[in-house]
Amino acid sequence: MNINDYSYRQIVAYHEAGHAVVAWSHSVRIYSMGYGPKNAYVRDALGWPLFEDMRLENVPKHAQILLGGEIAEKALYELCSEFYDPIQSMGLGPNGDLEKLQELAEYFFEKNAVDWIREMREETDKIVLKNWARVEALAAALDHKGTLTGIEIGLVIDGTGPI
Ligand SMILES: [Zn+2]
Repeated sequence: MNINDYSYRQIVAYHEAGHAVVAWSHSVRIYSMGYGPKNAYVRDALGWPLFEDMRLENVPKHAQILLGGEIAEKALYELCSEFYDPIQSMGLGPNGDLEKLQELAEYFFEKNAVDWIREMREETDKIVLKNWARVEALAAALDHKGTLTGIEIGLVIDGTGPI
């Protein structure tokens, strides 16, 4: 496949599927995902609490779920033998995934934030590549249906549900 064979909507679907599959890999329950009027979304049980309300054990999960979108985009480009420029990530921008990640890392890890983000990125890379077939199936289902319930997401990820 060539990256130009994918529509913007399909690439968005890969991005969201990346978030969802990383959440699933950490046994975080997913309620729904879909295309909204402005942004696509994944709603999961971790939500996005204030930093002071966040349980420390959930911090790496939050970080990896945030990174899952960009890393799935990057993996798709690389599978198409295409250079992925992070500047084009849909996780960028004010209040985007990467800004949230930066704030999270600085809040919890201060001076070591850069090292910690690198570590989180490596972990997320492994999860996305190991579960690539699930990312693809979920992206196809999201593109096809527009919204998916938690049950539908579970069925697609398990490989037992309709696309
Ligand atoms: Zn995202």
